[in-house]
Formats: sequence, structure tokens, C-alpha cells
Amino acid sequence: MQVGHGPPQPAPGLDAAPANTLQHSCHICGRPFGRIQERNRHLRAFLPHWIYCAFPQCPFRCDRHDLLATHWREEHSHANGGQAPQQLERYQIYDSNRLVTRIISGDITMEDAIVDALSEVEKRAQELGKQGVWAGNLWGGPSRRSQRAHVFEQ
Ligand SMILES: [Zn+2]
Ligand SMILES: [Zn+2]
Repeated sequence: MQVGHGPPQPAPGLDAAPANTLQHSCHICGRPFGRIQERNRHLRAFLPHWIYCAFPQCPFRCDRHDLLATHWREEHSHANGGQAPQQLERYQIYDSNRLVTRIISGDITMEDAIVDALSEVEKRAQELGKQGVWAGNLWGGPSRRSQRAHVFEQ
């Protein structure tokens, strides 16, 4: 007669749902985020830079308005009295939030969003007379290219 060996019990907690502090995961790399805004910011980082510097021959582009403000302070203070530009949202190349929303809703894939964004960058370059300045670098920087590679590796 055997005693003391009941059916194996599942270890407590293993079947429980994961803590939902990290419930917003990235569609591309699966990285979890605690806040929708963090996840969206991460997704926007896969898209070409969407903020530009208004000075005609300046190639600077970025993905955060505070970076544009810093750039103006550091590079164009002579031209603007050291003041950061007002109405930073005016210096947008395309609407990255709209694209991220469409990616999340499943309306378009990340690849579609990138193609869409790049064509808007190209169009905007013409409107701004920046074709030459941005030529060969519609993405906005080398770090963006490596992220793009990451996207298409999936
Ligand atoms: Zn990701
Ligand atoms: Zn600039």
C-alpha cells in the first residue's frame, strides 16, 4: 500500500495569468509595455523621422519635439536669439500618430506604414525644398536604418 504520493499538484501561480502591468505588447518584436503611450512611442520609433528643422539647408530630423528644441538652441541660436521655436508641432513631416493607430488597429502592416511614411517624407521634401538636403536619407538617420532592418527581419 502506497502512502504519501498523491497526484502531482501544479506549482502555484504557473497557470495564473501574467500580471497585467505589462499588457501592451509591440506587434513587431513582442516587447511588453505597461502603458499604451510607451508602446505607441516604441512603434513610432520604427517609422522614419517625422519632425524636421525649418532652416532651409539644415538636414536635421528627429522624432521628439524636445530634441528639435535642443537642436535649435545648439545649432541655430545665432539665427533665433537662442530661443527655441514656438509651435513645435508645425514642424511635422507626416502624422506618425495616425499611422501608429492604423498599425495597432490592424488596418495596415508596419511595412505598409513605412512605405506610406517614406512617400510622405518625399512629398514634404519637395514642398520644403529639402530634396537635396534629405537625399539618400529619407529615414532621417543611420539608427533608423538598423531599426528598419529589424522590421523586415520578422
Ligand atoms: Zn517592438
Ligand atoms: Zn537645424
